[in-house]
Amino acid sequence: MMLNNHKEHLYKILVIGDLGVGKTSIIKRYVQQTFSTNYRATIGVDFALKVLNWNSETFRLQLWDIAGQERFGNMTRVYYREAVGAFIVFDVTRPATLDAVTKWKADLDSKLTLSDGKNVSAVLLANKWDHGFEALWGSDSRIEQFCRDHGFVGWFKTSAKDNINIDEAADCLVKHIIASE
Ligand code: GDP
Ligand code: MG
Repeated sequence: MMLNNHKEHLYKILVIGDLGVGKTSIIKRYVQQTFSTNYRATIGVDFALKVLNWNSETFRLQLWDIAGQERFGNMTRVYYREAVGAFIVFDVTRPATLDAVTKWKADLDSKLTLSDGKNVSAVLLANKWDHGFEALWGSDSRIEQFCRDHGFVGWFKTSAKDNINIDEAADCLVKHIIASE
């Protein structure tokens, strides 16, 4: 068996944002290719594993779902510890959940840095895009500015329901994680 040059990576990735924005749904879609309209809000922390094989390297993404603790609006350092990337999610049908992203990003950056002192890569997800908010949305430039102001490496309009842009968002995050190693 030839195992030469095969590299394995394990990345802890956080999925954070307000209650009901679709964090659990995004993880289920990404990992299990399923969607349901009623997930129980499990209490505690859930993990899911997604494996990517790129150019003979294996990337194991351990996705951390905060499951029920969002109502506190912040997390403990223990939860963030050793993560190398994050998705911060908001719900395009509820503007207050975008305001909350500022708070989530600040909470993350205040409690977690990479060994070189830099912030971990974070990608912003504008979820529930299937609701047809194109007309109300206006231009994307406001979100682009928001991402620059708050240090996101990228953002995507996503739908866990219709499977829009979730793989693309994850690829983007993983590429930035690799580049920051
Ligand atoms: P969480 O609290 O952030 O984990 O949110 P959930 O994943 O539990 O989703 C909350 C509700 O939004 C559920 O009823 C989901 O079915 C629904 N939902 C999640 N993602 C989407 C999406 O992309 N589109 C639509 N239409 N509904 C979604
Ligand atoms: Mg959840």
